[in-house]
Amino acid sequence: MTRAWDQPAPELAPAPVPNAAGMGLEALRGLVAGLGESGFRAAQIFEGLYRHRWTRWEQFTSLSRDLRARLQERAGLSWPEIVDSAGSDDGSTKHAFRLEDGHVVEGVHMPYRDRTTLCLSSQVGCAMGCTFCATGLMGIKRNLGAGEIVGQVVTMLNAHGHAGNDPVNLVFMGMGEPLHNLDQVMAAFALLTDPRGLALSPRRITLSTSGLVSGIQRLAAHARRPRLALSLNATTDAYRDRIMPVNRAWNLAALRDALKAFPLEHGERITLEYVLLQGVTDSLEDGRRLAAFAAQFPSKVNLIPFNPHEGSGFEPPSEQRIGELMALLAAKGLTVSVRRSRGQDVAGACGQLARRQQR
Ligand code: SF4
Repeated sequence: MTRAWDQPAPELAPAPVPNAAGMGLEALRGLVAGLGESGFRAAQIFEGLYRHRWTRWEQFTSLSRDLRARLQERAGLSWPEIVDSAGSDDGSTKHAFRLEDGHVVEGVHMPYRDRTTLCLSSQVGCAMGCTFCATGLMGIKRNLGAGEIVGQVVTMLNAHGHAGNDPVNLVFMGMGEPLHNLDQVMAAFALLTDPRGLALSPRRITLSTSGLVSGIQRLAAHARRPRLALSLNATTDAYRDRIMPVNRAWNLAALRDALKAFPLEHGERITLEYVLLQGVTDSLEDGRRLAAFAAQFPSKVNLIPFNPHEGSGFEPPSEQRIGELMALLAAKGLTVSVRRSRGQDVAGACGQLARRQQR
């Protein structure tokens, strides 16, 4: 049986006027060559787009006025636009971005004492259909282009006034399954980590997958790639089959085998994210099975108390149970941390702000 994630998701239709925002150096060379300019101009535009994060052609003062005018005619410069934002008491801000074709995706800006983490979307909607996820309810609309992914970063860094050298972590944990859009995500990764541009560290970029084993295997073939996290959320196939339909295609044993075969750098570990739902996934037996799974490859475990949202039908675990599970995992020699969902008091779980906008 063919499932939604076996099919490539639709791509963004080409715009009548090319958009320079999101172009790599090669594409920019083509753009300036069409205007009779040398490749040096392409490098200047690249630096303006990604190092300076300029958003209007007038800002490219390293180019002549005449060239800026011709660029204005030949190419758009349009990053995703923030159309709604919701701030949380914990300092994080969830943003809804409107894309060129009117679709809306979400990103989250999360400031910490020593760094900022940006949570990014990789698709409009999602094909994976996880039952606990607001985005899953939307189904898949299309893949984001590399420029739309990079654009969430540029726009959030600009909106929050970040300097170019601020420490920034990126996590693909917003809307979409990043391994279902691996080509565009890897093109975005190349732009994000280019030392001539945003120059983000590859080690600070993490893709979180629901368990798309074919995608894990494709990612493993990239010598230069982001870190990998798995949204595990269940310790038995019976339960994972119910909440994450991808498990019916690749069960826990298949996932374990793919993760054991995943080539890791020295000191690199795969993050296992485990959402704790009261009375559903937070038993001590779950903790023991989770420990057994995590012990089979270099890993660290992130326990995520459920972030309740309207109509979900689930409750967060008790603080006592969180403590018991942490102790159980630590006693098995595993690295474990608790990640509180940020922005609990605003627009709730992933996909809600975007759905509000879409409506
Ligand atoms: S949890 Fe992630 S993979 Fe699952 S439906 Fe939601 S966005 Fe898609």
